Amino acid sequence: MASFQTLRPLARTAVTSSCRRLAPRTFSPPSIAVAASSLAVRQQSRFASSKHPKGFVPPTPDDLEELRERVQEFARRELSEEVAAAADKNNDFPAELWPKLGEAGFLGITADEDVGGLGLGYQAHCIVMEELSRASGSIALSYAAHSQLCVNQIQLHGTPEQKSKYLQKLTSGEWVGALAMSETGAGSDVVSMRTTAKEATDEQGRRGYVLNGSKMWITNGPYADVVVVYAKTKPDAGSKGITAFLVETASSGFSCARKLDKMGMRGSPTGELMFDNVFVPEDRVLGGLHEAVRVLMSGLDLERLVLSAGPLGLMQASMDVTLPFVHQRKQFGQPVAHFQLVQGKLADMYTKMQASRSYTYATARQVDETGEIRTQDCAGAILYAAERATECALDSIQLLGGMGYMEELPASRILRDAKLYEIGAGTSEVRRMVIGRAFNKEYAHLA
Ligand SMILES: Cc1cc2nc3c(=O)[nH]c(=O)nc-3n(C[C@H](O)[C@H](O)[C@H](O)COP(=O)(O)OP(=O)(O)OC[C@H]3O[C@@H](n4cnc5c(N)ncnc54)[C@H](O)[C@@H]3O)c2cc1C
Repeated sequence: MASFQTLRPLARTAVTSSCRRLAPRTFSPPSIAVAASSLAVRQQSRFASSKHPKGFVPPTPDDLEELRERVQEFARRELSEEVAAAADKNNDFPAELWPKLGEAGFLGITADEDVGGLGLGYQAHCIVMEELSRASGSIALSYAAHSQLCVNQIQLHGTPEQKSKYLQKLTSGEWVGALAMSETGAGSDVVSMRTTAKEATDEQGRRGYVLNGSKMWITNGPYADVVVVYAKTKPDAGSKGITAFLVETASSGFSCARKLDKMGMRGSPTGELMFDNVFVPEDRVLGGLHEAVRVLMSGLDLERLVLSAGPLGLMQASMDVTLPFVHQRKQFGQPVAHFQLVQGKLADMYTKMQASRSYTYATARQVDETGEIRTQDCAGAILYAAERATECALDSIQLLGGMGYMEELPASRILRDAKLYEIGAGTSEVRRMVIGRAFNKEYAHLA
């Protein structure tokens, strides 16, 4: 078995090998078909560049398979069922995992290599998310809040100074990241947020902004070192008056009012954050003044895409616990898996998982290979996978019978974790609305 330290170089090799394999294809002997595919490959790299790290080349299926094996190996070693069950029971994230995830390279999947990232894309990020979720839904949720909501936002919108200041610490796992958008009164309607940021100068004469307000349900909030915070810089300008800030939680006036107690995702700490005259220097504005809705909306598409891999891992976890059980458990003289009603449920679980997987990876592949981000597919992938994951978890409990209802098997934890994906990162209702609105836009000329 490869040592823990070898994971990172191996994952990097995947990138280099994909570069090597794509290059000859681009310069094959000329024919119309080959010339067209060469052009497509070159265009892919160009289109992909604005949402991908420097020098990104779409990975081959072999590269992705190799990465998947590396994550599975990591999960087997570091994320056993005992670790997952303890995180759930203790309502806490095992802090020693952050540097381990960092050393393996997983915290900066989509970040530039010169700031400690792996320089990979969204298919790779989905694979890591899926495999970590298969081991523990909640640890994977915290992972995604850090690596996608925080790291990838800084990667996409940060200045070179912001990237070098924050990404190194975040990709190594020295610092924990979060993103704070929601408020008690502003969830689905996030633009109605009330946290404000007013121009100010601090006692050292630095120009910046003073933040006041609060944020609710923030993943990693209780332990984060840096938080991407959205606040109103022009309260009367609606969506055109919001700015994103990089707030260090050591700043005076920042506090986590409480760590929230949840039904599921208990290994992922969630907090309510308070901002009481928190001064943020102007060089910590992320993505431009009053520009946060652009940052937020483009971030939400990719966030939904990467998070859609969470339910995939949870569905696989449901299969992992159910399949051996129903083949061992005998009633009426035979394994319960031989009864047609049980087979029907297993077939439905498997089909839902595979269909969800296909949708997520087709969407991620399109982003990696063409750079095109289709809002309706990012919302569609998570809408579909999240609802199917809850159904699979319920079917799993049913197939396990009395044992399914006991906490000593992970089935109940999987169900409690799965339900979050119908709520967090926009509810199922909002996702349906987002898809409907995309059609309204496309067919506006007919109205
Ligand atoms: C565990 C957890 C972690 C989270 N992590 C983060 C985080 O890291 N950062 C962050 O910023 N936020 C986070 N959130 C917040 C999350 O994004 C919001 O809870 C979510 O967007 C829903 O908002 P709400 O809770 O205010 O529900 P509401 O918006 O009040 O919705 C209540 C109900 O009304 C429905 N509804 C609302 N509007 C409409 C509409 N127009 N049409 C039809 N139905 C509608 C909803 O679908 C829902 O069923 C997290 C939440 C949870 C539970």
